[in-house]
Amino acid sequence: MSRFFSEKFASLVPYTPGEQPKDMQYIKLNTNESPFPPSPGVAAAVAEESGKLQMYSDPESITLRDKLAQVYGVKRQQVLVTNGSDEVLNFAFMAFGSEKAPLAFPDITYGFYPVFAELNRIPYTQIPLREDFSIDVQDYMGIGKTVVIANPNAPSGLNLPLSDIEAIVKSNPDNVVIIDEAYVDFGAQSAVQLVDRYENLLVTQTFSKSRSMAGARLGFGIGNEKLIADLNTIRYSTNPYNVNRMTEFAGVAALEENDYYMQNVQTIICNRQWLSQQLRELGFEVLDSSTNFVFARSPRLDGESLYRELKQRGILVRHFSQSRIEQFNRITIGTMEQMEALIKQIKDILEA
Ligand code: PMP
Repeated sequence: MSRFFSEKFASLVPYTPGEQPKDMQYIKLNTNESPFPPSPGVAAAVAEESGKLQMYSDPESITLRDKLAQVYGVKRQQVLVTNGSDEVLNFAFMAFGSEKAPLAFPDITYGFYPVFAELNRIPYTQIPLREDFSIDVQDYMGIGKTVVIANPNAPSGLNLPLSDIEAIVKSNPDNVVIIDEAYVDFGAQSAVQLVDRYENLLVTQTFSKSRSMAGARLGFGIGNEKLIADLNTIRYSTNPYNVNRMTEFAGVAALEENDYYMQNVQTIICNRQWLSQQLRELGFEVLDSSTNFVFARSPRLDGESLYRELKQRGILVRHFSQSRIEQFNRITIGTMEQMEALIKQIKDILEA
């Protein structure tokens, strides 16, 4: 830390993204990317827009927002697009979290939530998940705080039914409830259909997982027009050109080729079932995943050793050192070939 660094950030512990080592070619199952490339229209859109980079992007991203509005059955004014969904989450924390409206989210969830809370100096409560890593909905009923729930949750992979999400939203009419649906396409019900009924509901999603565009950085929020207007106040006070023109039109192209992505989602779900079963046969406890990853622990091998052994053998998975989950690894679902390679290595490690 330099002696110039503002003291307000002196104790800030930043988020640690999944590693991207360059020393060898790894099978990368540690950051929940899609194993499939974007659809052909995406590359074409990027090529076309790259020839216009002398001009700023549209600060309103009208073309993309209209397309999203059409796909999700809402109005353009109910859609905000951002540089990854991390950005809409940060904007939402800034806009709707405060001393008067502190945040509440599970103890085991996306690691960026406490970081955004600390960065924006918003008080927060981490509510323990049940022993089986499920969310107890009762904990959030009428809690009177700004609620943040990833549905499905990460890294557990477990989902809540829409009726539970609705109950939480309904019981907190004076607070915003943020539902982070980064993984929703892999097996949960989206709360987008509720946004016209509840003015306090904000749903966030991303193109990084089911739409194979993690490197383009594109996320979005859908909610009541007034919530979106508040988020735009933050956005225009931060970076009005937050979505670059290549990414905007890559997003439009991806939405036009939706069938391709939904087919990939089906493949990932099949591969997830295969991997979960294989791991269970090897004695692992595998939580029931509704995402493009599984969360698993072996009674025979501690979590960190498995992570290390796999890395040595060219496979990256994600290990978290938080004590409640240190015996687990989060494994991204890849191609069948990658899943077979993983199982082969795990068998070798268990035999050694
Ligand atoms: N929410 C959750 C639960 C995530 O796991 C991630 C991915 N790290 C994100 C949001 C953010 O993803 P992105 O910024 O790529 O949209």
